[in-house]
Amino acid sequence: MERERIDEALELLWILSEEEHHDLKRFRLSSDDHDVESLINILNEEGLSVVRNNEIRLTDTGKGLAKGLIRRYRLAERLFTDVFDLSKEIIDEDACKMEHILSEELTDSVCTFLGHPPTCPHGKPIPRGECCKKYRLNVQPVVVRLTDFEVGQTGRIVFITPSEAARISRLSSIGIIAGTVIKLVQKKPSIVLQIDETMIAIDPELAKEVFVKRVV
Ligand SMILES: [Zn+2]
Ligand SMILES: [Zn+2]
Repeated sequence: MERERIDEALELLWILSEEEHHDLKRFRLSSDDHDVESLINILNEEGLSVVRNNEIRLTDTGKGLAKGLIRRYRLAERLFTDVFDLSKEIIDEDACKMEHILSEELTDSVCTFLGHPPTCPHGKPIPRGECCKKYRLNVQPVVVRLTDFEVGQTGRIVFITPSEAARISRLSSIGIIAGTVIKLVQKKPSIVLQIDETMIAIDPELAKEVFVKRVV
């Protein structure tokens, strides 16, 4: 429980400092902790923050932890918004859970999968990770919707997110299942794929729910 209180406080301090707010009063007012004074003491005792001249600031250790939490939260927001089209309430709640449980490796995988996005859906910066340094920023996401795939490219279907359950069986009956290697032959007027020697035309609405990863 205490861990979570500390995490929430670290995140709040990070967000406030993004807006150049360091005053202690502001932190007290913004925190929804049941005992802000004890929380501030804990943060200071653990060397995560320092209070001086009525200002509270993260220490380097505090910053490091806060950066990781914010990074996981904002990446989770991106993942849930861009890939799963989840509602706002679910995104808030689940992004909060993800920030506490994602390991560093998994976080970097999510980041890479999304193409190292620079901001969350609200336009707030996502702190960069080790994975981002290795790649050029703003590269194409690794996994894209079939509708965003380029004609002539070959890719492997990674997952399908059907809005209706019936669709998945319709798709699988024509060979569109996770793991299948496809070549995008045409996008207009209809979407045409090649699977082995077979050409398959699919509805653009359906194609939007199919995610592919480029095979090089
Ligand atoms: Zn956000
Ligand atoms: Zn990255």
